[in-house]
Amino acid sequence: MQILDGKKVAENIKSTFEDRLKNLPIKPKLAVLGIKGNNASETYVNRIKQNCEKYGIGFNLFLAETEEEFKNNFENVKANESITGVMFQEPLSKELSNLINEIPPEKDVEGVSIKNKGKLFIGLEDAIAPCTSQAVIEVLDYYGIDLEGKNVVVVGRSNIVGKPLALQLLEKNATVTICHSKTKNLSEETRRADVVIMAIGKAKFLKKEDIKKGAVLIDVGINFENGKIVGDIDFEDVNKKAGACSPVPGGIGTVTNAVLIDNIIKVFEKGLSPKKHNWQNKCNMILFVW
Ligand code: NAP
Repeated sequence: MQILDGKKVAENIKSTFEDRLKNLPIKPKLAVLGIKGNNASETYVNRIKQNCEKYGIGFNLFLAETEEEFKNNFENVKANESITGVMFQEPLSKELSNLINEIPPEKDVEGVSIKNKGKLFIGLEDAIAPCTSQAVIEVLDYYGIDLEGKNVVVVGRSNIVGKPLALQLLEKNATVTICHSKTKNLSEETRRADVVIMAIGKAKFLKKEDIKKGAVLIDVGINFENGKIVGDIDFEDVNKKAGACSPVPGGIGTVTNAVLIDNIIKVFEKGLSPKKHNWQNKCNMILFVW
């Protein structure tokens, strides 16, 4: 079984950062908004901070004591033109989560706003996809796994992984099946798949009897078992039957971190291009009038 090594994919994405950042007139600046007291997500945010610092990307963390304070912070961030990317530190109340929709899509670095989801839905090229679903696509692309006409089964239908990923796979001309907790005979679905993508959050759920020989397996799951991180796929069990599998850790999670930084740079690049475009239009207008 080939190991789909997330570290290699992440290094490949990161190798573009230096040149792209050099070509920008100013460095991007990320604002992260959250509510104090969630240790797990604070660890995640600290990792993002370190990554931003490594590449000279500005990082501002606004941790509020209350929802009111969060809203005030959000208003300040919205008004601050020097901030080029915004993300929320979940979990938040539904009301606070929905505020991300007030951010222009070119500042939505996690691709979670309704505008970016709409763009993804209709297959617009400039859509920012959620980092984790994009990470899966990056791994499949890096290893040259052709999806055209293939049966791809995505297990999990969350708004940040399963659903956007299914749309991205459709764009690649895969025949996509989305499964979830109410799917009958799940094992039958996964057994006929050329590619199985697991995103359910159930430790070592997928076993060798659930796959066909040679199938490509992608493990998005992050679970803790006896103090160790494990995925949704029983990696040891599928080893002799699968064609390829992404490991946990060292798989999709590693790529997701790189995709976030990629998005921070990408949204800024995209935000700049309409301005360039406007300037081009103005020049054309001046020439036309003259
Ligand atoms: P989620 O919102 O809890 O969604 C889980 C999905 O799995 C739901 O659609 C659920 O079905 C389905 N499901 C649960 N148990 C199932 C079962 N026994 N059989 C079939 N389907 C089942 O989770 P999520 O946010 O998408 O995350 C999924 C996993 O990915 C978690 O382990 C999470 O930690 C991990 N994750 C990893 C990354 C990364 O960067 N690697 C990022 C995000 C999440 P229903 O819709 O019917 O309830």
